[in-house]
Amino acid sequence: MLYLNKSQKEKLLEHAKREAPNEACGILAGKNHRVEKVYEMINTDNSAKTFFMEPKQQLKAMKEIRNLGLEMIGIYHSHLETEAYPSAHDVELAYYPEASYVIVSIRDRGKPSIRSFKIVEGKITEEEVRIE
Ligand SMILES: [Zn+2]
Repeated sequence: MLYLNKSQKEKLLEHAKREAPNEACGILAGKNHRVEKVYEMINTDNSAKTFFMEPKQQLKAMKEIRNLGLEMIGIYHSHLETEAYPSAHDVELAYYPEASYVIVSIRDRGKPSIRSFKIVEGKITEEEVRIE
């Protein structure tokens, strides 16, 4: 389960649309499955099909998250042309078994979707996203 509030949800959608035609990515910080802060990251892949978070920016965000007493509870990215489901590449690069992998699909601009997954040793398990 992952809890997002309405403005965080809007922020993810807005980021996904702004980065198009490239994938957007970022970090979700919070506690107990509840997002408290959204960190937008630079996608150094500059790609419509993959993402890689800019390492220095990521490190800085991780430090700030720790200093705030929060945890990195999720990593999000967008899909432009496919559904909100992890690609083989996403699974390969899922280094954090504790994290929620949130995918924002804007394939259908009028009807974007946000889904969340745990990815552990290559195994994908969907979890519920609750918008509060
Ligand atoms: Zn992906």
